[in-house]
Amino acid sequence: MGHLYGDDYLKYTAKRLQELVHEDDLLGRLGGDEFALIIQRNIKEDAAYNYVESLRNELCDKIKTSYSEFKVSASFGISVFPQDGKDPIELLKSADTSMYKAKELGRNNIQFFRPDMKEEILNKIQMESLLLKAYENKEFFIEYQPQFNAEDHRIRGFEALIRWDSPHYGRVAPMNFIPLAEEMGLIIGIGQWVLLTACHKFKELDNRFDQNLCISVNVSAVQMRDKNFVAIVKNVLDETNMDPKQLELEITESLFIDNIEETIDMLNEIKSLNVRISLDDFGTGFSSLSYLRRLPIDTLKIDKSFIDDLSDQDSSIRIVGDIISLGHNLDAHIVAEGIENSTQLDYLKANNCDCIQGFMFGKPMSVKDVEALLEKNPLK
Ligand code: C2E
Ligand code: MG
Ligand code: MG
Repeated sequence: MGHLYGDDYLKYTAKRLQELVHEDDLLGRLGGDEFALIIQRNIKEDAAYNYVESLRNELCDKIKTSYSEFKVSASFGISVFPQDGKDPIELLKSADTSMYKAKELGRNNIQFFRPDMKEEILNKIQMESLLLKAYENKEFFIEYQPQFNAEDHRIRGFEALIRWDSPHYGRVAPMNFIPLAEEMGLIIGIGQWVLLTACHKFKELDNRFDQNLCISVNVSAVQMRDKNFVAIVKNVLDETNMDPKQLELEITESLFIDNIEETIDMLNEIKSLNVRISLDDFGTGFSSLSYLRRLPIDTLKIDKSFIDDLSDQDSSIRIVGDIISLGHNLDAHIVAEGIENSTQLDYLKANNCDCIQGFMFGKPMSVKDVEALLEKNPLK
């Protein structure tokens, strides 16, 4: 809503806090949107918590302006003298650390300082700086996991999966660095690199083997919210001269949490490029069936957790078959992911699953192994 409104709101908050705090306490603004409160009374920790909670409840009411209504949140960190700091500087640092943690746990949180928070934050800061360097030092590379048609076991295509070989940590799993890269905004650059690199390589292989396959690339919600995203995809298609129908973007349901309408518009824009859209990890998120119909989805990927359940012979809650029917009713292509054994495979085949991906058929592999696989499996 702009700086002017932000300034007004800060003044309002300061005034409101002044009215609310105990007369013996000292309130100040540290800068930006951060305030500090020194409770100079000898009170117990739960009393301090209740006090802060009451401030939060008063502050985080709905705010009404003449043209809109919105909700504000605040995060609180508490440090206690003397255990969390023997002087003001150390006490403030500890309070800052616990506030940082409170923010991480979701807005509106209240956290007391714990010594392990410091270590956690230092680790995170270290990873942040190594992640920045990793990008510059080209420590990332891509592996490709094959997907097969369930019926005849022919290769359908490959999913591109990023890998980080860090000189400091060794191999870091994507789940352990993608969320941080998202938080840092670094995922936009990394994601663009993955898309371009995977498409380049794919086009090269497609020219050589001509098996009419497709390449699936994971796209983070943060990338999708970037205003340039559609232009980036278009540029990659132009630059690699790839048939857009052979590119599939894997998105997750977290994309729809904030703004469904805007997201649907953007997906339609991508669809107009003739690129395929796949809903990854289906069943784990927040999909509401009513808007699922409105999404321009070509493929549904059933999450591995459902496939895991299938190995349990006695399991009576095999809902995978229902998910497959649901997907087919939406005219989507169904890919099951994480298949490790024949019990799972047999069930999926019997329930008309279209495609399968999993360690049973192929782990994520290097380009060299992809070439060997394509060499062995000519589509003739
Ligand atoms: P995902 O997109 O759902 O990818 C499938 C994950 O399941 C991959 O893990 C793959 O190695 C693993 N997998 C496949 N089949 C099996 C199986 O039979 N057994 C087991 N145990 N695992 C199997 P990976 O490579 O560790 O990636 C994890 C997640 O990280 C991905 O989940 C995706 O959400 C994210 N990710 C990976 N690469 C990228 C990327 O380039 N960009 C973005 N934004 N996210 C990525
Ligand atoms: Mg995926
Ligand atoms: Mg998945």
